[in-house]
Amino acid sequence: MNLLYQSTRDNHEQVTASQAILKGLASDGGLFVPTELPKLNISLEVLASMSYQQIAYEVMKLFLTDFSEEELKHCITAAYDDKFDTKEIAPIKKSDGAYYLELFHGATIAFKDMALSILPHLLTTAAKKNEVKEEIVILTATSGDTGKAALAGFADVPGTKIIVFYPKDGVSQVQEMQMVTQKGDNAYVIGIHGNFDDAQTGVKEMFNNKELAKSLQDKGYLFSSANSINIGRLVPQVVYYVYSYCRLLHAGELNKGEPLNVVVPTGNFGNILAAYFAKELGVPISKLICASNENKVLYDFFTTGEYNRNREFILTSSPSMDILISSNLERLIYMISGETTEERAITNATLMNQLSKEGKYEITPQMRQKLSDFIGGYAKEKETKAVIKRVYEKADYVIDTHTAVAASVYYNYKAASGDATKTLIASTASPYKFTRSVMEALEVETESKSDFELIDQLSEISKTKIPQAIEEIRTAPVIHKMVCETEKMQEMVEKILRV
Ligand SMILES: *Cc1c(COP(=O)(O)O)cnc(C)c1O
Repeated sequence: MNLLYQSTRDNHEQVTASQAILKGLASDGGLFVPTELPKLNISLEVLASMSYQQIAYEVMKLFLTDFSEEELKHCITAAYDDKFDTKEIAPIKKSDGAYYLELFHGATIAFKDMALSILPHLLTTAAKKNEVKEEIVILTATSGDTGKAALAGFADVPGTKIIVFYPKDGVSQVQEMQMVTQKGDNAYVIGIHGNFDDAQTGVKEMFNNKELAKSLQDKGYLFSSANSINIGRLVPQVVYYVYSYCRLLHAGELNKGEPLNVVVPTGNFGNILAAYFAKELGVPISKLICASNENKVLYDFFTTGEYNRNREFILTSSPSMDILISSNLERLIYMISGETTEERAITNATLMNQLSKEGKYEITPQMRQKLSDFIGGYAKEKETKAVIKRVYEKADYVIDTHTAVAASVYYNYKAASGDATKTLIASTASPYKFTRSVMEALEVETESKSDFELIDQLSEISKTKIPQAIEEIRTAPVIHKMVCETEKMQEMVEKILRV
């Protein structure tokens, strides 16, 4: 069967999976969704004896039907190799009454690696399949995590260049060092005198600049994006939810068919949407618990049915979740918007139009009913800190601030609901990536110490080895020193590409 994709806002234009990956966003501004959600055609018991890579193939082939077996297996092997510091790729740690799914064992020690290590391979394979002759230029603005994960993924991938803009004074010391020491002849990193929004706006302007597109094409280049709305990022994320269930089954932690709740620390709604897709594939996931920090737009949405972004943006200790427009939620809205693809697209387009005009929309009671598997929760900064300390004291396990948001929401949910279903918590970053906040939560004196001093101390406290990703940047030479004003971003790109 050949699975096609369409826009969440219009059911007329249908494309193949590889075309959807190449395009990223549909031409009407909607997101690509599969015209129907596939089901696993192999039992979980059989999958339970397979490796991460084998399960990845069984899951991804259901979504990316126009990739050949050879192509897909090549992408998977190239992505999930010894860039990960464990053969398990995504190990599960049982601590303090929950299963923590560690998604941070890749090159940049955050969960973005799970998808961004394979996206370059999917993209270059898709380009070949569709006879795209141009060299692909990935243009990214980052607040810290995505940029490094995209750099690591695309570095030295033939047929691509990657250019990352970051706010020079707006990222952590570790995050900046990770980016400016990036190797690879095709990688460019530029600090801007501005904030993340300035970087993002500059990149968007380049994407929409028709003249620039023309001169790029003349030179044999094509812009593309590593943004989380690409289905090439969503599909690889479904894999680890299937894998987790299988590992727990294999280890005897779950019985056949036993339900499992999943808690996901959420920003752009990509990770938790992947868990929903896994449930639809046939994995016995019960509740999908969406955990927000103090930017609790999603909590309010799940509890009231109204999505309202008109509110203050709060800076928290879980910066990768500081977001007021959760782009991937649009895919869920589409799926609950009616029975036919046409009805869904029309309803969703209307709501998204309201969102862009008024900053809010409200769904109907019938639509809300279809969300009964989702539970929204949020953690205040104080609760996030407290749970880091509590899990450490009770289980000798140090979690990062994003994971802590999920843990706090889980323990509160469990106490309030009495739901004793076994629970998987998506652990999205290594505590070493957010050492300062983690050490503050553990009530260690931090003010007089550099990030690297704190890292050494965290290693002692947690009795874990400092990840390679951190060791590398301690001594690595700074390669990228380009800095520019916000208005000069396009000039920099033109200089790099010689257009
Ligand atoms: C990106 C990110 C998230 C949020 O994931 P979404 O898919 O955007 O919801 C959570 N934690 C960390 C560490 C991240 O980098």
